[in-house]
Amino acid sequence: MTAFSLTEDQIAIRDMAQGFAAETLAPHAVRWDEEKHFPVEEMRQAAALGMGGIYIRDDVGGSGLSRLDAAVIFEALSTGCPTVAAYISIHNMCAWMIDRYGSEEQRHKFLPKLCSMEHLASYCLTEPGAGSDAAALKTKAVLDGDHYVLDGQKQFISGAGVSDIYVVMVRTGEAGPSGISTIVVEKGTPGLSFGANEKKMGWNAQPTRAVIFENCRVPVANRIGPEGIGFKIAMAGLDGGRLNIGACSIGGAQGALDKALGYAQERKAFGARIADFQALQFKLADMATELEAARTFLWRAAAALDEKTPDASKLCAMAKRVATDTGFEVANQALQIHGGYGYLADYGIEKIVRDLRVHQILEGTNEVMRMIVARSLVGRAKGN
Ligand SMILES: Cc1cc2nc3c(=O)[nH]c(=O)nc-3n(C[C@H](O)[C@H](O)[C@H](O)COP(=O)(O)OP(=O)(O)OC[C@H]3O[C@@H](n4cnc5c(N)ncnc54)[C@H](O)[C@@H]3O)c2cc1C
Repeated sequence: MTAFSLTEDQIAIRDMAQGFAAETLAPHAVRWDEEKHFPVEEMRQAAALGMGGIYIRDDVGGSGLSRLDAAVIFEALSTGCPTVAAYISIHNMCAWMIDRYGSEEQRHKFLPKLCSMEHLASYCLTEPGAGSDAAALKTKAVLDGDHYVLDGQKQFISGAGVSDIYVVMVRTGEAGPSGISTIVVEKGTPGLSFGANEKKMGWNAQPTRAVIFENCRVPVANRIGPEGIGFKIAMAGLDGGRLNIGACSIGGAQGALDKALGYAQERKAFGARIADFQALQFKLADMATELEAARTFLWRAAAALDEKTPDASKLCAMAKRVATDTGFEVANQALQIHGGYGYLADYGIEKIVRDLRVHQILEGTNEVMRMIVARSLVGRAKGN
């Protein structure tokens, strides 16, 4: 691979994902947002095309592709609906955590149904009192014979209530990151319940709910890796997750830019097409340029993660911030180009703006991305 052009295979994968997004997601995206509909059947169709386990090994049904391939796929999917693409990205992140750190038995137990999306997965790290400072999490898992007993609450969990598999970061030891382990909790386990579906600004085509554990007994056999490496697993998952969410921002923004280009060439004001005004042309030129710069940087970070370079985590944090900030700004400018019509739901632009806003907050806020980069420059500050 080169970081600056796609191979023929990557172009074919992109075209496949873009075709799927245009035919299966885009026509329904505004309605799904309005109706808060989580399109599980359509996601299973995406999985049938290999998008349920993109960078999962193929012996358990994965596609065995690279992080760069995944970035290309998530950008393409998001041109149809960033919310659905972003949920598929979280699902892929959870599956990868099991693929990378799970035993052979766990891989064969959980991954075939995750790759086909017969089962959906949720990533459970955030708690009411532990967001950016995730290592302060308090959900307890106490060993009792061959089970852990879980008590605590996870907050803002994407897919919660519908997902079959919950990849949960719990405290099994001392305070801080080294006391955290990762446990898979299966839907239907007694003591597992969910809060109400949150009312949100965007991302309405997927549920966001609290996940509650009350005396919830989970077999020790469901622990992923040894005790004490759960925080490492969670952060490793997020390296790829951040690339994917950045790609979702770029794809959503590209969709908005394409709509704005079309609109600017049709809409007339002062006796001319608005696309004929140089102020607007320069705005469009800047939007396309910023987006291309973000995309190129994201691909560079994805290539670094594929090659496991020592600076890969830092590059993923940098690229997440740039891609999600740029994506939001470009989508917002696309709304501006639509004038008052951009503010109306039917045009599909305001939905993209609402959807992309949260990418600046989740999978680590963009302030946390700056913290990660700053630590690599000046070391860890006191209290961080
Ligand atoms: C729609 C949605 C879906 C989500 N899905 C999931 C999911 O599936 N799984 C999951 O585990 N979590 C999920 N999250 C949670 C998300 O990851 C957190 O909201 C995010 O990490 C921020 O945590 P917080 O909301 O507690 O904010 P806080 O950590 O309380 O931060 C508040 C503000 O302070 C800033 N801040 C905090 N510390 C510092 C610092 N040291 N320096 C400078 N600024 C700082 C933050 O950047 C932010 O602006 C989701 C959130 C939303 C909104």
